Amino acid sequence: MSQHKLHVLVVEDEVSLVELLRYNLEKEGFRVTAANDGEEALALLKEGKPDLLVLDWMLPHVSGIEICRQVRRRPELRDLPVIMLTARGEEADRVRGLEVGADDYVIKPFSPSELVARIRAVLRRARPGAADEMLTYGGIAMDLAAHRVMRNGRFLHLGPTEFRLLRFFMERPGRVFSREQLLDGVWGRDIYVELRTVDVHIRRLRKAINGEGERDVIRTVRAAGYALDDQPDPAPG
Ligand code: CA
Repeated sequence: MSQHKLHVLVVEDEVSLVELLRYNLEKEGFRVTAANDGEEALALLKEGKPDLLVLDWMLPHVSGIEICRQVRRRPELRDLPVIMLTARGEEADRVRGLEVGADDYVIKPFSPSELVARIRAVLRRARPGAADEMLTYGGIAMDLAAHRVMRNGRFLHLGPTEFRLLRFFMERPGRVFSREQLLDGVWGRDIYVELRTVDVHIRRLRKAINGEGERDVIRTVRAAGYALDDQPDPAPG
């Protein structure tokens, strides 16, 4: 199946990270161009509009946030999807990034598969039909059109609520959600459901997706909620 390749512009001054992203994004079928600083990025954006911008926050000369601001000011770039790369722990930066118009952010260090999943999710929201209707993460593949889920090559049987719950996580891998946020996102605000209902469906989802000897990809975050996460827990301390 031949297909127009989606074009991702990566703006990052760390050369090794650019190469890692280029390798992984090209492997996933994207066309990649890269700029090492903000000025180069703005020059490239004048030449043509990519399908998505991956923008590092910390750049020499012109910061990522300033680029994002300029992108949103230009009518022809206003709808360009932007994912910002931010440093861990800079919560205020992330809020500012979303305020100046970034569509999502990914916290460094991140796995290439997490970024790819975020890119697909943002593209799907920005241009329905442009990205394929597959969500993939941590060995799990969701075919949204066919309503089928696979993990490591075997089909999984999910109830409708577990399917919606998994989809919600797969569109935002690595992100921690409280029970309230999951209720809002998966069940909707208008319906009254007890918080512990979330736990029941998380349990069913785990049972459905975690096979013998497979990592539990649903992470319980004490006093916070749940996340879809295929990374091992960081060492304590
Ligand atoms: Ca940087």
